[in-house]
Amino acid sequence: MEEQLPVAQKVVRVCAAQLPTIHGQFEMTIYHDGTGQEHVCLSMGDLKGDPLLIRVHSECLSGDVFGSVRCDCRDQLTRALTSISAAGRGILIYLRQEGRGIGLTNKIQAYALQDEGLDTVDANLHLGLPVDDRSYAIAAEILVDQGVSKVRLLTNNPHKVCELRQGGIEVERVPHEATPRDENRVYLRTKADRLGHLLHVTACPATLTESAPTATGGNKAQ
Ligand SMILES: [Zn+2]
Repeated sequence: MEEQLPVAQKVVRVCAAQLPTIHGQFEMTIYHDGTGQEHVCLSMGDLKGDPLLIRVHSECLSGDVFGSVRCDCRDQLTRALTSISAAGRGILIYLRQEGRGIGLTNKIQAYALQDEGLDTVDANLHLGLPVDDRSYAIAAEILVDQGVSKVRLLTNNPHKVCELRQGGIEVERVPHEATPRDENRVYLRTKADRLGHLLHVTACPATLTESAPTATGGNKAQ
């Protein structure tokens, strides 16, 4: 592949081993990018042939490991592994870009601001940080390395679809909506309204619409 990717995005396959999980038998492959960051490719079954069911998941320590329901990451991760397992083949790429790329410390600082009423977008802006600093070019590189060129991508994020296509992957989007929880309904609504995610979450419970995250945000028109 000859995409003109910055050196920092070139990934190298480092090692692989079998990984039996509660979702079935996977192979776990470690890739290093140009910055030394470690990324994971969890694959199951035969990767050749029909378009492969995949998920590209960005690290969320609080959600993925501790089960935080401020976001929908854990639900989406579990759902993806369950779907891949049911299909008997597929890949989950786990990218180490915590907090939409701003890192754990900044994410928790942004949470503190959200506790005071800012939404997830305005909290990042308030801290002088990008709203979304993630890149999916590395995921495309990993897929190429795994010999995968056609995928059915579990996602609600159109940017992810675009970036994988730019990386030379043929992509069909498969909607991947977790069931909203009371604790993350406003967050999901914000992802839909302000980050362009394709979600059907309703503003639902009156208490939550009343405390919608625009109270101190200011620049949300409606
Ligand atoms: Zn999360």
